[in-house]
Amino acid sequence: MNKPMNRYAWMLLRAYLPALVALGLAIACMLWTSLFASVAMLHALVPYAKWLPPLFLLAALGAGLFATLRLWRWQHDQAPKCAGCGGPLGRLRHGPHGDTRKCLACGSRQPV
Ligand SMILES: [Zn+2]
Repeated sequence: MNKPMNRYAWMLLRAYLPALVALGLAIACMLWTSLFASVAMLHALVPYAKWLPPLFLLAALGAGLFATLRLWRWQHDQAPKCAGCGGPLGRLRHGPHGDTRKCLACGSRQPV
């Protein structure tokens, strides 16, 4: 009973990973500016560094929206599905044996 839920949770985590990474970078930059604002050498960089958190937040928002759109399309049968498990497929990857998409649910590579 517990396994399909775990699988779905992992799938969501994989889909939203770029958004989470961008969010983590935004938080790291916010901490960086507050932690090192007093260091003289890094103080000169603060006017530039303060623009990074909003940029990363914007990237996180964009990646989150993109992942939501992809999952929405998958749920409404408008996106290609994994031949093995029917899960949503990730972004297009160019490999030595042609273009593939990785399944977000089971991790298998599907030829496009
Ligand atoms: Zn799959």
